[in-house]
Amino acid sequence: MLNLLPVIKEIKKKIEELEEEKNERIKEINQQYEERIQRYSNALLVIQELNEACEYCEGTGKILPKDSELEPYYTSQFVNCPVCLGTGRKIPD
Ligand SMILES: [Zn+2]
Repeated sequence: MLNLLPVIKEIKKKIEELEEEKNERIKEINQQYEERIQRYSNALLVIQELNEACEYCEGTGKILPKDSELEPYYTSQFVNCPVCLGTGRKIPD
């Protein structure tokens, strides 16, 4: 009888080890990126708090209506930004 059980056991063990190693590394990578993302998120909050320009229209007060975005456009097609009502200024929360 060909008994390959020792080999099978070895292979199973190897797979398990690799799975563990993989999960460990994923955990480390997640943590590293979480820390970096968190730092940027914190900075973003502070900057957004200081910012006085409307993000929606990028401070211009004007936007292109959605349906004309693909068409060649002229300045006359711009409409007042619905968020800042054309002022270009951020509405305080
Ligand atoms: Zn706006």
